[in-house]
Amino acid sequence: MATVTPEPVTRLIEAFSQLPGIGPKTASRLTFYLLRRPPEQAEALATALHELKQKVVFCRSCFNITESSPCGVCRDEGRDRTTICVVEEPLDVLAIERTGEYHGLYHVLHGALSPVEGIGPDELRINELAARVKAEPVREVLLATNPNLEGEATAMYLARILQPFGVRITRLARGLPVGGDLEYADAITLSRALQGRQEM
Ligand SMILES: [Zn+2]
Repeated sequence: MATVTPEPVTRLIEAFSQLPGIGPKTASRLTFYLLRRPPEQAEALATALHELKQKVVFCRSCFNITESSPCGVCRDEGRDRTTICVVEEPLDVLAIERTGEYHGLYHVLHGALSPVEGIGPDELRINELAARVKAEPVREVLLATNPNLEGEATAMYLARILQPFGVRITRLARGLPVGGDLEYADAITLSRALQGRQEM
C-alpha cells in the first residue's frame, strides 16, 4: 500500500490503528473521511491532540486530569476533606460528579489490578493513596472501582492496605450492573449505589 498511498495517509492510518478498539479498517475509514473534509476539521483535531498533552496534567494530589494542579476539586474549600472516593479512571469522577450526590475528594488509580495484563500495585497510584490517608484528615475511603473482576480484586486489595490506618472503608452498593464500567452507569443507579454504600 505504501507505494501507491501518499506517506502522510499511511502514517495517519498507522497512528489511528494504534488506538484501542480501532482496527486497520476503521483507521483507513477515519483517515479518508478526514481527507474529504475541509482542512479546518483536521486542523481542529490536530490542535486538540496537541493541547491534550500540552495543557492537561495530572493533579498532584488526586491524580485526576486537570489544566492546573492541584485540580479544582482538591482546591475547592467547600468539599468534604474527610472522605476520599477511589476510582479507576478520570471518567469515573465525571460520572460520580454528575450524580450531585458526592461532596468529598477523589483519588484516581489509573487502572485496576490485573495480573493477566501485568498490572500490579506499583502500576497504579496506590502508594500515593496510602500516603494521603496517612497525612490527610481522612475518615472514610469509598472504594468505587468498577463492579467487575478486576475492580473487585482492586477494592479487596485496597481494603487490606488501608485497614491499618483505622479509617472507615466502604464500597459502592450492589445494583450497579456487574461486569460493567462505572462511567456508563446512569446517574440514578449510581446515586443509589453511593447512598447505599456499605462497610467492607
Ligand atoms: Zn485533585
